[in-house]
Amino acid sequence: MANELRSKILIVEDDPGICKFLKHTLVAENYNVILCETGKDALEMISSHCPDCILLDLGLPDMDGNQIIRSVRSWTSTPIIVISARSMEQDKADALDLGADDYLTKPFGKIELLARIRAAIRHTRTTSQDEGVALNGVFEVGELRIDYNRHRVYLAGQDTNLTPNEFRIVALLGKHAGQVITYRAMLRELWGPSANRDNKILRVHMASIRRKIEPNPDEPRYIFTEIGVGYRMSNGED
Ligand code: CA
Repeated sequence: MANELRSKILIVEDDPGICKFLKHTLVAENYNVILCETGKDALEMISSHCPDCILLDLGLPDMDGNQIIRSVRSWTSTPIIVISARSMEQDKADALDLGADDYLTKPFGKIELLARIRAAIRHTRTTSQDEGVALNGVFEVGELRIDYNRHRVYLAGQDTNLTPNEFRIVALLGKHAGQVITYRAMLRELWGPSANRDNKILRVHMASIRRKIEPNPDEPRYIFTEIGVGYRMSNGED
């Protein structure tokens, strides 16, 4: 599978043995894996790397994982799967109430882990609401079609296999087709008010998006760069 099609999973875990097991399992399934051991690093990486799914240990050296759930949920719906040795029902209920999508009690097996991850990512692709972006109906320009209900983008009828974050970017631009959306507005809308101000994350995502949706990524037909300002989705009048 081409690199840009792989979903990115952030593992937040301070136990080296479990970390190694998770990384090995996910890399073998062709996921793009990033790692960190502390809550502080986790919050930074979630903001700067925009993972498609987060595996979160609750017992971290510098903070409780529940604090991370609370913080992340204030600005993004990125799926969070808690992986914890805490097996009490109340612990699970607390994490889920704060906004975790799922909860795995250690020890757990590879098959279950992978199934939960697939379900979490699928869920974000199919839920019909997303914070800040009204997602319904269809937007079409040329051969590009954004299906807001299915969270899919098609080019000439073929699914372009955008990652969840790539979809959110295209969905936002499609909703405002014909208008320039500034980098800053996009970062705020997609990753929250505390998002990293660095546009690099947008450029990286946009390069990948263009390889998927533009017949010729060097001469974009659907998403234009307004240099130094932002991006604009064609409304068919270009
Ligand atoms: Ca731990």
